[in-house]
Amino acid sequence: MDGSERIAPPTEVAPFASGQVPNADPDSTARLVRARTQVGDFELTICTDGTYLLDGGAMFGVVPKTLWQKRIPADDQNRILLGLNTAVVRTGKHTVVIETGIGNKQSPKMREIYRNQELLPISLNAAGIWAEEVDIVINTHLHFDHCGWNTTLLPDGSVTPTFPNARYFAHAGEVAHGHLQLDRDRVSYLSPNYDPLIQSGQMTLLTTEEIRGNAEIVPGISVELFPGHTAQLMGVHIESKAAGGASEHACYISDLIPTSAHLDPTWVMGYDLDPLTCIEQRKRFYQRAIPEDWLVLFTHDHHTPMARIGLNDKGKPIVRSKT
Ligand SMILES: [Zn+2]
Repeated sequence: MDGSERIAPPTEVAPFASGQVPNADPDSTARLVRARTQVGDFELTICTDGTYLLDGGAMFGVVPKTLWQKRIPADDQNRILLGLNTAVVRTGKHTVVIETGIGNKQSPKMREIYRNQELLPISLNAAGIWAEEVDIVINTHLHFDHCGWNTTLLPDGSVTPTFPNARYFAHAGEVAHGHLQLDRDRVSYLSPNYDPLIQSGQMTLLTTEEIRGNAEIVPGISVELFPGHTAQLMGVHIESKAAGGASEHACYISDLIPTSAHLDPTWVMGYDLDPLTCIEQRKRFYQRAIPEDWLVLFTHDHHTPMARIGLNDKGKPIVRSKT
């Protein structure tokens, strides 16, 4: 978002109730399908579960508001508008979904607070992607705003897998941490987003040792640990080579760098469990992402879902190109 845009008042933030389909006009499609590009031979689409509002101070940790509000304006309750981006990769053999937004399990009270819109199913359909074709779902970590549509809450109170034919992947340490229900972050972990899938065998839990041995989920899609936001946060690498072309690389970096306003290595979030590790991991990420010209996918940036990164004259990382 640039500084000229204002956050719509709350009554206008959530125009669609769950299950309602907006008019299939071009504006609506552009709102629902945030970006589409090629990464080598792979088709990459950025879908969205809509937007939500979080406290700006929590999103920028110790950074003074006088600095961060130049990049993302806050409303009169100090909230900033964030996106809920789902990356969908069609490799030719597989349809891979990375992250599944907030979902439809929030209580009316939490929906009132977050103003989230539960758009992912219609966003996928607007992009011509059908739940049945998805055969891989990857959760970078298991916070509620990253795995919400893993399962769908039905009217009778039960949950069902949103992607019936998919194998789901998450880190075993995330599940263990969520089950601890610690004071600091228990509200972030909602077990109906993953426990039913683990119990049915539909979710595969990866260990750090397994990832170090073989990080590939399917050919061209692999995971890498970038700890700090949580202890086992995984980034997802997307690598493909078009016939006669160079190899191309995109990376869904998740909450290590949640928006393009968070590129400065020290602008870490109040939510991060280990901010010092986040700073070191961001520096490690840039050591490859900048010289190798990766397309960086931002999980919570509604207006800039992807960018290539460069350095400014002070040596700070900045958006070099949005394609
Ligand atoms: Zn998040």
